[in-house]
Amino acid sequence: MSRTMTACATAVLLAPTAAAAFAEDASGKSGKFSTFHYPFVRALAVGAGYAPADAERVALLCQATDSGELRGDGLLSPPLRVALDGTGRFTKNSLFFHFARRGAAPAAGATDRPYPGRGDTCALFRGNRAVTPVRAPCGADGPELAALERWAFDAQVRLATPDGRAPALSVDGGQASEVVGGSLDALGILLHALEDSYSHETCMEAAHARLHAPAPRSCAFTWHVTGEYGEGKSATGAARTREAGLATFRTLRAWADAKRPGARAPWDEPTAQRCVDAFVRLADAQARVRFADALARSPADTIACGSR
Ligand SMILES: [Zn+2]
Ligand SMILES: [Zn+2]
Repeated sequence: MSRTMTACATAVLLAPTAAAAFAEDASGKSGKFSTFHYPFVRALAVGAGYAPADAERVALLCQATDSGELRGDGLLSPPLRVALDGTGRFTKNSLFFHFARRGAAPAAGATDRPYPGRGDTCALFRGNRAVTPVRAPCGADGPELAALERWAFDAQVRLATPDGRAPALSVDGGQASEVVGGSLDALGILLHALEDSYSHETCMEAAHARLHAPAPRSCAFTWHVTGEYGEGKSATGAARTREAGLATFRTLRAWADAKRPGARAPWDEPTAQRCVDAFVRLADAQARVRFADALARSPADTIACGSR
């Protein structure tokens, strides 16, 4: 309870930046979660060749970057309970994990391929003279995502966050310890920030800022609820969601290639893209959960993703 009150008090101070990208749009055994950050990331991980327990772990950490505490729903493996500290939306690290910016291409992993869609989102801030964190251009260290990528791919790298502490994780009520570079847990946190970089991109483009505000529409929190799915191919928000899905799959593949060379994946990239497109087309959140869960259970059965 005191934790909640502390979070609320901090939220008043940081209100402009305090909200989830890819909103917690569904609920189930795990409580509230984002259909993208949890069940869909889990399905993409299975499609990218991850063993069920690994796919579950990556997706749990992806969702826990928003939720803090979260219990798995038991779909693929016995439910784990995770508590992640240091990535919260209502903390000094909010902009770093939830409004990260990208360079032209990943700093680790698939470094030879540009990100899907717009590459460099630091460019959207380059003309800003304001020095508030919300408007400040990317710093000398480069885009926030580059730091997260180096950490998620390399066991030697320690993550430097704005508050100076790396995220700490407790599993099943055990002692919390620092999330180490190169781990599945670090990968899950990276995927969260990568996905949010797309979810907040339309607002960054309109406002050259990292915040939530009533206007323009793409900066309103409701954008995450009404603007990101099901609107057909011309809608900006749905287009960014599709790019986020492809970026997630590519990063999962690149991490698997780096850590477990030769591991086979049920999906190639065109298959992943079809499944992403089909997921994004579903306007109803519970329909997205059912779709993602069916793929996670039976990745070879991609009929629901449509034909080539
Ligand atoms: Zn948001
Ligand atoms: Zn977030």
